[in-house]
Amino acid sequence: QKLGIALVGLGGYAGGQLAPALQNSEHCYLAGIVTGTPSKEEEWMKKYNIPKENIYNYDNFDSIANNEDIDIVYVVLPNSMHAEFCIRAAKAGKHVITEKPMAVSVAECDAIIKSCKENNVKLGVGFRMQTDPYTQEIKRFGKEKPFGDVKYVSSDAGFIAGSWMTPWRLEKKMAGGGALMDMGVYAIQCCIYGAGANPVSISAQEFSTKPEYFKNVDETITSQMKFSNDVVGNMFTSYNANGNRLFVSYERGWAELNPAHSYGPLAGRTSKGEEIKFPYKPQYQQTIQMDAFAKHILTDSPNYAPGEMGKRDLMIIEAIYKSIEQGGKTIPLDLGNMGIVE
Ligand code: NAD
Repeated sequence: QKLGIALVGLGGYAGGQLAPALQNSEHCYLAGIVTGTPSKEEEWMKKYNIPKENIYNYDNFDSIANNEDIDIVYVVLPNSMHAEFCIRAAKAGKHVITEKPMAVSVAECDAIIKSCKENNVKLGVGFRMQTDPYTQEIKRFGKEKPFGDVKYVSSDAGFIAGSWMTPWRLEKKMAGGGALMDMGVYAIQCCIYGAGANPVSISAQEFSTKPEYFKNVDETITSQMKFSNDVVGNMFTSYNANGNRLFVSYERGWAELNPAHSYGPLAGRTSKGEEIKFPYKPQYQQTIQMDAFAKHILTDSPNYAPGEMGKRDLMIIEAIYKSIEQGGKTIPLDLGNMGIVE
């Protein structure tokens, strides 16, 4: 049985990654679309063989409740629109995937989680790294300890922003923030799965090297963390510098992924001089990600990126902004094992 997915918002990520990834998936398929741009209806209908009755716009979207072809609604809109569309999807009785960041505040994450619970639907976040085999290998090093305990993690995630970007990313109202909300999520998650634990305290600094361009969103942030298992960590995120790396230092060696979060395949090595390599045919990370979520619905297998993980990341993001506001003060965090999926 294959579950039907409807993509909401047919921009760069939905068109460039998710729709192609759904062509090879085992447990789900592209069944419908929700778009505010009428010209895309015809284009997507033809390209992906989508029946007319599975095409919605933002106004008639709620009537998707009556469409049995659609099991999952995948929200791929600008960050500030995630909460509204996730909640409308849950109310329509559809399982929900929302892109990262889950929403623009912890309060919005709470509202999404509550609505999915009330409507008895499953919720996942589009963290494609969580099901990526290289990431799984880093998680395994933390758990099985072939190099001893983790001592230190360091992660970079950034790119140089330019006019090729859709403009909403530079508007705080739409994006919720700048580099931290966008690439910062990868740096935070890398540190957490490298450490194998959540942070218990965090401090942060903001740098601005191009204020005329980044008028109302953060450009560059560094942050320091202490984790519940006494690992210490550093992260860097930027819209004005490239970075795509995770370094993990263990008692007896190290492991590195570089790249650590691009569309793949990733690459990595360890202090033993070995490449981290997998004998698998390259495929879209998003195929693995969406198949895992569909399987979770069908068989109750693990949800590798649940709503609690998305909310935890927003709690960390809010603590980072708070630290910056308070001149780099250390902010305590009480996350327990929230969002840690083995
Ligand atoms: P995009 O700008 O390319 O697409 C956004 C889509 O939303 C467009 O189809 C646009 O028409 C639509 N839209 C509806 N109302 C809008 C409005 N008021 N303003 C602007 N656009 C509006 O963005 P994208 O890169 O596809 O990103 C969409 C989401 O996916 C974001 O949350 C982003 O963080 C996430 N994303 C995730 C990954 C990943 O690897 N997981 C990669 C890229 C983007």
